[in-house]
Amino acid sequence: MPTRTIAGDCIVRFDGSRDRHLRGRVLVVVKPDNTVLVHDADGYQPVAWLTRPEELSLTRDPLWLVAVDGDETLRVEAANDAVAVTDHDVGEAGVPVGDCRCGGPLVRAGGAVVCIECDDRYPLPGGAAVLESTCDCGLPQFRVDRGETFELCLDYDCGSLVEAVRERLGGEWDCPDCDGDLEILQRGGLLAGCEHYPDCETGFAVPDGTVVGECDCGLPRFETGGGERCLDTGCEG
Ligand SMILES: [Zn+2]
Ligand SMILES: [Zn+2]
Ligand SMILES: [Zn+2]
Ligand SMILES: [Zn+2]
Repeated sequence: MPTRTIAGDCIVRFDGSRDRHLRGRVLVVVKPDNTVLVHDADGYQPVAWLTRPEELSLTRDPLWLVAVDGDETLRVEAANDAVAVTDHDVGEAGVPVGDCRCGGPLVRAGGAVVCIECDDRYPLPGGAAVLESTCDCGLPQFRVDRGETFELCLDYDCGSLVEAVRERLGGEWDCPDCDGDLEILQRGGLLAGCEHYPDCETGFAVPDGTVVGECDCGLPRFETGGGERCLDTGCEG
């Protein structure tokens, strides 16, 4: 879905927490997630808006936009034929972090690195920092803590985090509930789970931090952004 603008003399009605009825030469922005922003010439704030409405319909000739979210409704109606509707190719914006293999700029937008030219997208694990160093494939690397510090290519095809962590830490820790070892698995995030699953269901999410010692319970202790703790969040040792 493109980002769409509607520009010209419009009648705007908002029914909801407070009702508004406006008319003026406005610029309406309709985003791909259906968010509608009605701007006039003043300041940064829209004069009316609806964020990610459940329903949105837009008809042309005559131009008529209705966005509905719960008991809030935003209607925009063209007051004359000169109102212009334009589609724009708008992408994500983020902090520049290097170059894509296509030569385009890579930016960090939320939890991923995206190329603003070819739209290639590389999701990052939680707590990851993109580095200035590059992989042999040309993409930047990132650093992340999962027991130890790992530096990997943005592209999982060059080596995945779960494989790197498994290689260094798989089988290193004993299951506290049976005689098995803890294996490193991908379950959304990384999990240290008993090798005897499903007979033993013991498993712990591997925290964003590095191992700094051993807990009285036998499991490793991690230094994390939130302080030092046992691999087992329920452990008081
Ligand atoms: Zn690219
Ligand atoms: Zn690579
Ligand atoms: Zn076990
Ligand atoms: Zn413990």
